[in-house]
Amino acid sequence: MLNLTRQMIEIRNLLSSIDHDGIKLPSIVVIGSQSSGKSSVLESIVGQEFLPKGSNMVTRRPIELTLVNTPESAANVAEFPALKMYNLTDFEQVQKILFDLNMAVPESEAISNDPIQVTIKSPTVPDLSLVDLPGYIQIEAADQPTQLKNKIRDLCNRYLEAPNVILAISAADVDLANSSALRASRVADPRGERTIGVVTKLDLVDPEQARKILTNKKYPLRLGYVGVITKAPNAIKSSGTLFSRKNLTGHQAFVAQQNFEYGYLREHKDDFYQCNVGTRNLRRKLMKVLERTMAASLRPTHLAIQSELEETAYQFKVEFNDRPLTPEMYLANNIDMIKLGVKELSHNFSRPELRALLKNELDQKVLDLLAERYWNKPFDLKKNSNVELDLRELAKITNIDDDIYWHKKLDLTTGSLTKLGVGRLSTNLITNALFTEVENLVDNTQLRNHPMAKAAVKEAAKNVLGAKYYSTADQVENCIKPYKYEIELEDREWQTSKENAVNLLREEIKQCDEVYQNLKNQVGGRKLQQVVTYLEKLKQSQESDIDLTSNETLGFSPTLIQRGKDAIFLKDRAALLKMRYSIVKNSKMCKKKEGKYQCPEIFLDAVASKITSTAILFLNVELLSDFYYNFPRELDQRFFNTMTAEEIERFAKEDPKIKKHIELQQRKDLLENALSKIESVLAIQRTTEPQKDDK
Ligand code: GDP
Repeated sequence: MLNLTRQMIEIRNLLSSIDHDGIKLPSIVVIGSQSSGKSSVLESIVGQEFLPKGSNMVTRRPIELTLVNTPESAANVAEFPALKMYNLTDFEQVQKILFDLNMAVPESEAISNDPIQVTIKSPTVPDLSLVDLPGYIQIEAADQPTQLKNKIRDLCNRYLEAPNVILAISAADVDLANSSALRASRVADPRGERTIGVVTKLDLVDPEQARKILTNKKYPLRLGYVGVITKAPNAIKSSGTLFSRKNLTGHQAFVAQQNFEYGYLREHKDDFYQCNVGTRNLRRKLMKVLERTMAASLRPTHLAIQSELEETAYQFKVEFNDRPLTPEMYLANNIDMIKLGVKELSHNFSRPELRALLKNELDQKVLDLLAERYWNKPFDLKKNSNVELDLRELAKITNIDDDIYWHKKLDLTTGSLTKLGVGRLSTNLITNALFTEVENLVDNTQLRNHPMAKAAVKEAAKNVLGAKYYSTADQVENCIKPYKYEIELEDREWQTSKENAVNLLREEIKQCDEVYQNLKNQVGGRKLQQVVTYLEKLKQSQESDIDLTSNETLGFSPTLIQRGKDAIFLKDRAALLKMRYSIVKNSKMCKKKEGKYQCPEIFLDAVASKITSTAILFLNVELLSDFYYNFPRELDQRFFNTMTAEEIERFAKEDPKIKKHIELQQRKDLLENALSKIESVLAIQRTTEPQKDDK
């Protein structure tokens, strides 16, 4: 059987997350003055107390109540979809939530247009969609400022518009002429075509009088009146026991009310002959009327959804070229891009690149050691007799091979290189290099616009690299251990290192010249020459014991004096490097590995090369391969296995452009879904009513 109301309620729920003006699915809107029994009517329809009670105006927001019949379930459950609260079975809690949601609206504002959506699922409720309107009767309260009254009226008028059905509640013990619910319904529905009159508290008036109200012609309504008793009196007799009404809660109260109403109506059966009475009949009527109204709104709703969809699809095409996008796709695309980047990195950043990186670092260490141990100022030679190595002199010496001093010196320098903590140094270097690569990768994806996600990727990289740091450093340190004791060189290695050393010296000369040139530009060529001349004279005078005191600085500032000293140092260093360059490149003794004591530049380069190769071998296996394997998995773990759908959506929507894209896509999907649902409802409707179409 086609359960139209239920299907339409589903469609309404689908559409509820998007704002739309044109699509209107009918609801039953309940109005009634205070104490007319409005809450009791709603609760007797639901069969459950759930509305907040209070003398103060407790309904400050419209409550959109969806009832879903669930024959298979055992209990009544409530849901607040907007609050993501589901499966609530404690209706006192539901009452409390509703109370709090209403009270969140300050009294000064009286009401809020923002509806509270609550769904109640139960095997005993009919499929219905009802709206409990706030403060309806406040309009008439004299002490309200006009502005507030207008606000309330506007809100109510919007809900009272067609195609909604109006349920106008009036108490039997109040003259219908004074019923504010009927008065309001007559304004919204002047011909009384979509208003159902509900007369409560039948038990409080004489049955004859009640009958008059229910059959009245004075205020005719096409959908008629239904008389009900929605609350049992304070104490009722049941199964011979006297229950206090106050002790009855939830379902018990409902059963007591049903029994009382049933008993009362049975007792006065004759008085209510041909009248529509009883909450059971009221429910039935509501279902029938809503179903009929839903059926009537099927085609207009279909058209409205269709046109809304066309507009959305057009916008989607124009703005996003029909490119599909969901939060999951967005996240997956970006993570995939990083993974792809890591894959490329594994090709472009492997052994040769690592090697170059580490060798470069060790070259610097070698240069430092050479500068410290070997390249001392030749000009000091005259003054200082135990100076390390006058390289100009050395060039002349050809046979110092046996000189223990030079042997020891090279051994010590080599030791400094092999024992400088290559394990830590190289692991640190590669770890940092990889981390920088990951940072660059992230900055090349859209994740750069998401600070949290960006941080999470970096954190993942840090974790994977960190997990291997110490063991890698130890392994590398271990494997270069033999070089700390002995280094064997092949002729081939010597030749390669000779070339390296020549290049290194050439580069060092270039840099030295550059720094000197910069200094000259900074100070000015003439001025620099003046201060240098002054310093050289000063030095000569000191050497020949002529006392030139610091007062005689010829007006040079301390900074300028320092610059002059720097210039002298650089000139000396350049001269020395040029000399070493020519020796390493051309001298006979540097041609063969046996000349290592005279050519420490070549030998130390060879040591650095050996350490590099061995270290890289382990770094590659221990750190790099591990990183390339585990990093993508860590990303999956962090982004796909632990993030909830909501978190992914929130993440994607951090980027305003993506947010717009995703929301338009969601809107389009929802409308498509709603359209296909409503089309299938229309198709079923056509097949169930063939005769009409045939005629
Ligand atoms: P509301 O203010 O319009 O929501 O009205 P309530 O549902 O809270 O009812 C107001 C009072 O009328 C409460 O004390 C109810 O117990 C009582 N009441 C409601 N319906 C009936 C009824 O059918 N018969 C009797 N005797 N009392 C009722």
